[in-house]
Amino acid sequence: MDAAKPLTILYAEDDAVSSRILGKTLQQLGYEAHGFVNGQLALDWFIQNQPPIIISDWMMPVLDGLAFCERVRGLNLPHYTYFMMLTANAGQANYRKAMDSGVDDFLAKPFRRDDFYIRLRVAERIVRQRWEAEAKIKSLARFPSDNPNPVLQANGQGLILYANRTSMPLLEKWNSGVGGRLPVQLHALLDSRLKTGASLETELGCDERIYSFGTTSVSDSGDVYLYGHDITARKKAEAELIAMRNQAVAQSLQDALTGIGNRVLFQQRLPQMLEEVQTKGRKLALLLVDIDNFKDLNDSYGHKVGDQVIMHVGHTLRDRLKVKDCVCRWGGDELVLMITDLPTREMMGPICVRLCDAVKRSAAESELPACITLSMGFAIYPDDAETPEALMQKADQALYQAKADGRDCWREYKGGNQALADSQNLFQRLTVALHDERLQAHFQPVWDAIGQRVAGVEALARWHEPDLGFIPPDQFIPLAESKGHIVQLSRQILDRSLAAMQAWIKQGYDLSLSVNLSKRQLLEEKFLHDLRRLVDASGVQRHRLIFEVTERQSILGHAIGRQRLEEMAKDGFRLSLDDFGSGYSSFDLVSELPFHELKIYSGLIKKMHAKQGRRIVQAIVEMGQTLGLSVVAEGVEEEDQVRMLRDMGIHKIQGYYYSKPLAPDDLMAYLARQPKRTVSPPVADDPSSARQAGDPKDTGISY
Ligand code: C2E
Ligand code: CA
Repeated sequence: MDAAKPLTILYAEDDAVSSRILGKTLQQLGYEAHGFVNGQLALDWFIQNQPPIIISDWMMPVLDGLAFCERVRGLNLPHYTYFMMLTANAGQANYRKAMDSGVDDFLAKPFRRDDFYIRLRVAERIVRQRWEAEAKIKSLARFPSDNPNPVLQANGQGLILYANRTSMPLLEKWNSGVGGRLPVQLHALLDSRLKTGASLETELGCDERIYSFGTTSVSDSGDVYLYGHDITARKKAEAELIAMRNQAVAQSLQDALTGIGNRVLFQQRLPQMLEEVQTKGRKLALLLVDIDNFKDLNDSYGHKVGDQVIMHVGHTLRDRLKVKDCVCRWGGDELVLMITDLPTREMMGPICVRLCDAVKRSAAESELPACITLSMGFAIYPDDAETPEALMQKADQALYQAKADGRDCWREYKGGNQALADSQNLFQRLTVALHDERLQAHFQPVWDAIGQRVAGVEALARWHEPDLGFIPPDQFIPLAESKGHIVQLSRQILDRSLAAMQAWIKQGYDLSLSVNLSKRQLLEEKFLHDLRRLVDASGVQRHRLIFEVTERQSILGHAIGRQRLEEMAKDGFRLSLDDFGSGYSSFDLVSELPFHELKIYSGLIKKMHAKQGRRIVQAIVEMGQTLGLSVVAEGVEEEDQVRMLRDMGIHKIQGYYYSKPLAPDDLMAYLARQPKRTVSPPVADDPSSARQAGDPKDTGISY
């Protein structure tokens, strides 16, 4: 081969556009390129011309790339041909299959021009080295003693008759010599040459050098010449190539941020996994996961925290899955999981719950500032769909449903428009329940942390259906909000709450009433007018009412919303910023708007076992105190939390530690159970609570 002459490359590609680009690229890189549209035409031309490099697509009509390669190798030509396979169908299994068929390199489509160029250079280097070695062997064959490569002569029984100088280290290694035996590998080579005529090759290592041995000639007397050539440099180049390829494959399948699989890996794995479960007669769940309110989180805390959240979720999910399951980042804050080998679809519900809980719990225990919840939707193979695309589409519908149902939940794909029908069905039932005024208000006590008394209650909507049981507010409040029923719902809850308040006040209890306010309700034109009328008619003083708003509803960024809140404060109602610290609250807003109270987000209370968590809560308490706001902790469940909160100087505490939300009569009974002046909570025997109980005169207790 002439080193100065451009190399000839045969390329086979059935796609006209790709073929044109490939031909042009090869020419631009200085190669003489010959293109063919299928493997058979390429093979015919190859046999005639024997170019040193072949680049072939895998999927082609008539003769595909793999068969083409096998046919080329089967020709057993004296010259070495480098075979590079291109395919969009990359993946370890295919890669191995191609290598076994004699492919030298494997490049996944689409590829970058740089990458292609490097691969070609390596190919060229390997081909040139190999051909040079072959040429040298030929020229030196007549003078074996001068040959810098090993040359051996052996008889038909494998007895070494001659060995040149370069072969000596090899003979030493084999513990042999002239008159001794060939090693097994070379004997086999010799045998096949004599018995079948096939010229085989084998590789043998010695002192960090690698030799490739082939039989090139048989003398009239039946002796065989075995020529080795030093392929150490070629092997090194090949090893570099393999390392480069493995790295490229690994990188191209990995998500750069999280290190879990990316979309490409997912697209490769899904068909393989489907094939596997099909053979086993099992099921596979395709589960789409979305991090709730991720955009708000990103906006509030910045992209760095956003990235940490994605990483945290990705790793937590990966750690909870079995080895054969797979989690990939689909893009943005969406992840996709493949859960394989499921005997039944019913197993997926508990799996979703476990995964959601794991993320919630681990996020609460981590340094992440906000509570993380997930929405999940899944579809099952083969029940719901049989192709990757259809499965994905159906899982997406289920995810959409989970989001529509208020997020922080999982939904499965239900045939046809069943899912939609479900929510419509629920909506219709809510319409009826509202019409029949069947929604109830339950009340959760809010304890005064210093005075040790029930300072107020929070009204929480409850909806019970005989066949469904209690439907959680997280499910029906967003539904009511999205379909315009929230005004009617809130009106009913307020009516019931005011009626209950009248009764408690009449009994002498001095309570405040916290009511959750939704954005749509606040923006309603008649809202303030109706509110004043309703409250004043009930006889409950305005200052007893605390309206809770969350920044999550972005009321506060809304000019009319802010104006309404200011009017409410002027009217004598009190305002509370709910879920403070959940990742949406801006510290500026607290000082800009006329809030009376901050309600610390329950997720932060759960993080108080960790030092960082305690510091955040402490900082919020101090900030509230500085601004003259009352600070309330909600979601308090443990005695330790109560003790810590009191030590921090919290004003009010709400949570299951004291009581779950109660029906009006149960609340009356609950109040009645507390001693009238020095109410003794479950932590009364705690010395710190006794120390803080203070003078009853300071407590303002009037019941
Ligand atoms: P929220 O305003 O943050 O209400 C507190 C929620 O935490 C309530 O859930 C309450 O039952 C629960 N909770 C209280 N203490 C604990 C505790 O110690 N541990 C735990 N794990 N949970 C505790 P609920 O009743 O399911 O209400 C959920 C949300 O629905 C409320 O969150 C509120 O945003 C909304 N909501 C409820 N009723 C109404 C309503 O009448 N109007 C409006 N607009 N929203 C409402
Ligand atoms: Ca609330």
